[in-house]
Amino acid sequence: MHWADKTADDLLSRGERHVIETGTSISGIPHIGNAGDVIRGDAIRKALLDRGIEAGFMWISDDSDPFRKVPKGMEKLKDYLGYPVRDIPDPDGCHENFVDHFAMPFISELSEFGVKPKVLSSTECYRSGQFYNEIKTALNNSSKIIEILNKFREEPLPDSYIPWTPICRKCGKISTVKAVSWDGKDAIKYVCRHTEVSGGSVDGCGFEGESSIKEAYGKLPWRVEWAMRWAHFNVTCEPMGKDHASAGGSFPTSKLICKEVFGWEPPMPVIYEFFTLNGEKISSSKGNVITLGDWLKISEPEVLKAFMYKVLKKQRDIDLEKIPNMNDEYDEFEAIYFGLKEDTDNTQKRLYELSQVGEPKKLQVPFTMCAILSQIPNLDIKEISKRLNNLDYKDFDEERLETRIKLANNWVIKHGPDFLKFTILKDASGIKLSDLQKKGLFIMADELMKNLNPKELHQKIYAVARSIELDPPELFDAIYMSLINEKKGPRAGHFLLALDLDFVVERFRSF
Ligand SMILES: [Zn+2]
Ligand SMILES: [Zn+2]
Repeated sequence: MHWADKTADDLLSRGERHVIETGTSISGIPHIGNAGDVIRGDAIRKALLDRGIEAGFMWISDDSDPFRKVPKGMEKLKDYLGYPVRDIPDPDGCHENFVDHFAMPFISELSEFGVKPKVLSSTECYRSGQFYNEIKTALNNSSKIIEILNKFREEPLPDSYIPWTPICRKCGKISTVKAVSWDGKDAIKYVCRHTEVSGGSVDGCGFEGESSIKEAYGKLPWRVEWAMRWAHFNVTCEPMGKDHASAGGSFPTSKLICKEVFGWEPPMPVIYEFFTLNGEKISSSKGNVITLGDWLKISEPEVLKAFMYKVLKKQRDIDLEKIPNMNDEYDEFEAIYFGLKEDTDNTQKRLYELSQVGEPKKLQVPFTMCAILSQIPNLDIKEISKRLNNLDYKDFDEERLETRIKLANNWVIKHGPDFLKFTILKDASGIKLSDLQKKGLFIMADELMKNLNPKELHQKIYAVARSIELDPPELFDAIYMSLINEKKGPRAGHFLLALDLDFVVERFRSF
């Protein structure tokens, strides 16, 4: 069974009302790794819907968090270290603030993946006053909270710890603020002092003030906030990265707080491994990032969804040079869905279904082939469709073909390996070939007219070379030189058949 179905069944064994919470900390550009949380949550929503249960599905931006580290390329924001991210200005000035600048494109890109959660801002929730009762509950239970937090800490919190951090009224920072006393009702006294965050040290303004939890200008500590949100929004399912779920992570702590302080049964965790990008950790502070928008320029949304839905607990790498492999994997699932291949573990057809944004449409034309086609000048899609039909690519959706060719072109230009990039030579009269090479091309021109498939054609090149006692690499050289003036190119069988037959035949005979 696919993990999303298994999760849905497990959830249903607990009851029929469900809310799936997903979220992202907006500390920089929300990337593909962040998107994994909500895209995976959507698979669970779909699986529940297929069982007749319409679950709540929310995405919350953790925008009350302090700005701890400056993302690469945004060095001008370094003075905002220690501020709640929500209160930082838009670095480009096009949105109301830093969070909107990143969250709004992220949400609209998610909808292109067919993922449309209810969008919430943690800061707005606080400042609207809707968490008031829960904040009060947390303060009333601070000794219990300290006891739970201390189970997971090396250095215990003092008994005087107050689980609420106001934002400094004077300077607007939050990292620098320490709550010092609570009057037992709504007022919290605080001081604003120097502190260290991961991106550097942050000066406090020295202000000593008082903050009312009624206006909720501040936040609960993360592990308390998470637990509070589950109770407040009746969350029953929460996808999370494995760092949260690990022994010292926030889930084991928040789980206890949720149950013992807020009296809500903690949500069922759906734990996943992170992706890496080009073999390295995805990190906006290091600039090793790809966004959903970047992805949509080079590949279809369904391909990424299928990649995310395949396994939960295995770290997988997104290697931008190997986007064709990811597409090939997707095409396998598609072949299974359309009955062209067997579903060996009974999850792959389902995985394909869950990945769909609209109605499934068959393509089965390899991404690499599309990358080659995309570089042919004056490409005519009708003409290409005819050519592909001759190549045994049948009954494909022409609109998808057009889309994939466009995407493959963007990919090959930006990330493709050199051997896959080419420009068709308009005039080959300057190309010097040996007599044997010319002879080889002449015979190949005849072979091209025999309707061979790419593999057969590839083998034919070897056979022809040997038949005239030419070293095969020399014939490959001649093929590439005559067409693209390069010693190397895309795999010859696919390449030759992607081109206009009359053109290639004429070119080969022109020497
Ligand atoms: Zn903006
Ligand atoms: Zn201050």
